[in-house]
Amino acid sequence: MKHVAIRAVVCSFFLLATMGQADVKQQARVQVVMLGTGTPLPDPERSGPSVALVVNGRAYLFDAGTGIVRRAAAARERGIIGLEPRTLRVAFLTHLHSDHTLGLPDLTLTPWVMGRAEPLELWGPHGTRAMVDHILAAFNEDVILRTTGLEGSNTTGYKVDVREIEPGDVYKDGNATIKPFLVKHGEWKQAFGYRIEALGRVIVYSGDTSPAESVVENCHGCDILIAEAYTEASFDLVSAHWQKYRRTYHMSTRELADIATRARPGLLVLTHRGNAGCDQSQAHGCLRAGSEEQLLKEMKKYYSGKVVAAHDLDVF
Ligand SMILES: [Zn+2]
Ligand SMILES: [Zn+2]
Repeated sequence: MKHVAIRAVVCSFFLLATMGQADVKQQARVQVVMLGTGTPLPDPERSGPSVALVVNGRAYLFDAGTGIVRRAAAARERGIIGLEPRTLRVAFLTHLHSDHTLGLPDLTLTPWVMGRAEPLELWGPHGTRAMVDHILAAFNEDVILRTTGLEGSNTTGYKVDVREIEPGDVYKDGNATIKPFLVKHGEWKQAFGYRIEALGRVIVYSGDTSPAESVVENCHGCDILIAEAYTEASFDLVSAHWQKYRRTYHMSTRELADIATRARPGLLVLTHRGNAGCDQSQAHGCLRAGSEEQLLKEMKKYYSGKVVAAHDLDVF
């Protein structure tokens, strides 16, 4: 009995040691973690849009959709150290649509409640500062109580250092160089994609966009291009109003195929499979026409490069 117990202890030490080595290995490279691959549709399988780039154990977050911190916690449980919630402290917004920002109060407050003492560093378009000010005003009673009551939370970690992006701004630290670039997203005055360079790899996240040459120029043979698309099959089934919306705000599979063919990424990762018009009508045929299966079928018809449809918590 005693012998068995000792063996169990030795085994778990061995297991911990092995996990430690694996974790260290993961820390030493670049990982793209799809925290949320959804859209405004409240799909239980897909959190709101959010991508994490983890470099040397440090996370850089792009967009803050619903569920961002819980998905980060799930990735941490799978061994990605940089996504430990209380260490999340650098984030970039592509634009201020609610599906990309509903997780911002979560990202601002939850890591702090878990012990983060540094303010969140947040880059985003004009309007980001006003959004953050309003979020903090909305949670003012919570902040007062947590900092002055028995929880004894620190008085710094809920704060947000906002940087509203100006042309030419580039984020740079010892791990990564992150360059925002303008894309085209309907009536939004500013919507950004991001080009990230880290440890010799180049990753481009298009954000939400209709066809934009800036995506081609910034990828230009990049390792990974993360981009959105809707299916042509579903486009044909929605009203003229929704067709106009789609053309103005997003990309069809054929349009993305054209962009990607010229951008030449090593891997094209599809996310944010929009199905505007069908999501609202919930008509069965319309929803099926916008499915992931249909998306891949159309992409493979128009695009000869390597392409995958991402799911939440996929790692590339
Ligand atoms: Zn969106
Ligand atoms: Zn959008």
